[in-house]
Amino acid sequence: MTAYGPLPSTVIAIDPPGCGCTECMTGEYVPLQRATPDQVAALLNGTLRNHLHSGTKLLVNVVYEFLSPGGSLTVQTVVVTFDNEYSDQDSDLSWELTAAQLPTG
Ligand SMILES: [Zn+2]
Repeated sequence: MTAYGPLPSTVIAIDPPGCGCTECMTGEYVPLQRATPDQVAALLNGTLRNHLHSGTKLLVNVVYEFLSPGGSLTVQTVVVTFDNEYSDQDSDLSWELTAAQLPTG
């Protein structure tokens, strides 16, 4: 393992947005605003460690679709949104996940 360059596979935790700690620099942790959809999905499923501030809220918006009359519900889109109150620009963060990444727990 090397500390150089972006190596998303080595990320083990999601840090608070705007975090600039040593681990965020080396790629061991990733601040929330730089997290990829895969990493957000891993956070929600518990495979990445959660280092977010207590009280941090993530909105998970799931759109289901009936593909045929009487058919079963199918997940159409999964969008995770974070109300970025820590940013001066007040820009919300959002990630579009696949149906397979829908948090189960
Ligand atoms: Zn950090």
